[in-house]
Amino acid sequence: MKMRLLLALLGMTFAGLPTATAQTTTALGTKPVETATAGAAKPADGKAAIVEDDSIVITPFRSLTLPVAKTTKTFQLAKLNKPLATETTKDLQRLFSAYALQSIVDGSPAGFSKATGYITTVNYSILQDLGDNRFMAKAAWPAAGPNDALAAGVDAWAVLLLDHPAKVGDTGKITGMHVGTAAVLLTVKFAPLDGKRLTLRREAFVECATLEDSPAGLQKFIDSINHGADVSVTTNELIPCKKCGGLGFIRQTVKGQLLDNRLPCTVCDGAKTVVLPTETKIIP
Ligand SMILES: [Zn+2]
Repeated sequence: MKMRLLLALLGMTFAGLPTATAQTTTALGTKPVETATAGAAKPADGKAAIVEDDSIVITPFRSLTLPVAKTTKTFQLAKLNKPLATETTKDLQRLFSAYALQSIVDGSPAGFSKATGYITTVNYSILQDLGDNRFMAKAAWPAAGPNDALAAGVDAWAVLLLDHPAKVGDTGKITGMHVGTAAVLLTVKFAPLDGKRLTLRREAFVECATLEDSPAGLQKFIDSINHGADVSVTTNELIPCKKCGGLGFIRQTVKGQLLDNRLPCTVCDGAKTVVLPTETKIIP
């Protein structure tokens, strides 16, 4: 799934031939091609200065790093609400709500699969068409992921892969999955860099649909697991701090003093609990 989305985003690179046709401007009006950004693929020979190159190349710049679960556990549907079982309806609802935010609707057998990036709402205004439904946009999105792993964007340029055509000036709102940072080599066609040929490194989002967090959605989720869907969800679980034994401080005996010194616990910072990313596999 991840590969397909990335290939879709980067399609032009792997297709080999840039599909953006070179729009030849009048020879006199052409601005000299600028080598504004270090690292931008640029022919070193003198010809580069007079040949207008309008091709667009999108390459991954920095892939994202999802949180790694520090521990795993299993939630067995067959044990739901059974005596002595930890599996409760309330916990299943909580796991499903988390899963709904971490999964995308797609063409897989279950109808959905685990998202490979943080999902957030992206408000956008299209600045430039990059071809194949990919756009450079002015965008805004709230922070997403545990501990706001994906920082919020405000008036930020971002690369979007939409599931529908759009044109410059269009505005809208999508549910977007962050797929990392992409490097886009392009001739910019919007202010204030209009006409400059350079590489922009920007956060990239793929438009997607998420699972519906509703009773019907939950039932579909349960059915798909009972029919063999491989489902796991990563959540942050609060567990007592091991370092201080859940006290928030560490005792230090002082010679000749009746009372111990209380040193603040450096692991939980006095909170008594720590957050432990936990992967829960949900099985029939
Ligand atoms: Zn502690």
